[in-house]
Amino acid sequence: MKTAVMNVSKGTHRQTYEKRCDSYNTGRKPRDPAICPNCHAVFMNGHWQWTTLLPKRARQEICPACRRIKDNCPAGTLLLKGSFIRAHKAELINLVKNQELCEKAEHPLNRIIRIEEHPDRLAIQTTDIHLPKRIADALNHAYKGDFRVRYEEGGYFVQVIWKKEE
Ligand SMILES: [Zn+2]
Repeated sequence: MKTAVMNVSKGTHRQTYEKRCDSYNTGRKPRDPAICPNCHAVFMNGHWQWTTLLPKRARQEICPACRRIKDNCPAGTLLLKGSFIRAHKAELINLVKNQELCEKAEHPLNRIIRIEEHPDRLAIQTTDIHLPKRIADALNHAYKGDFRVRYEEGGYFVQVIWKKEE
C-alpha cells in the first residue's frame, strides 16, 4: 500500500492531532481466522499477521489498521519541528517511510496513515501508538535531536514531538 504524502499549505488545514477515536479502543478481537480483504493481513492464533498460509474458511474482516486509515483516525502522531526540517525534508520523509516498512513487516497493524508536508514541519499520523516513537528513535540515531512523548486517553493515543535546529 502506498503512503500518502500531502502537501498542505500553511493555515488551510486544521490539525487533527486531538481527534478522538474511542471506538477503536474496545479491544474487540475478530473470530479466528479472518482475512482483511484490503491489505490481506490474516487474523490467526489471536493476532494479526502476514502469512502466505491462508487458513481455510477465513472470514473477511477489515483489519483495525485499514479501518483507521479509511476513517482517518490516528492512534499516534509524530510532529517534526525545527529549522532542520525545512532543508532536509526529502531525506526525513525517506527515513520515516523506511521505518514504517520495518515496523509493518513485523507488526501489520503499525502503519502510517499519512505524512503532511508543511513549509517548516512534517506531521505524521499512524495507526498505532508505537510507530511514532520508533521513528523518533531512528531520527535521533541518524541526526541527533530531541523528542518528547506524551500518552493520552489512558495510553490509547500518543503524541511525539521531535525537534532539531540547524
Ligand atoms: Zn487491512
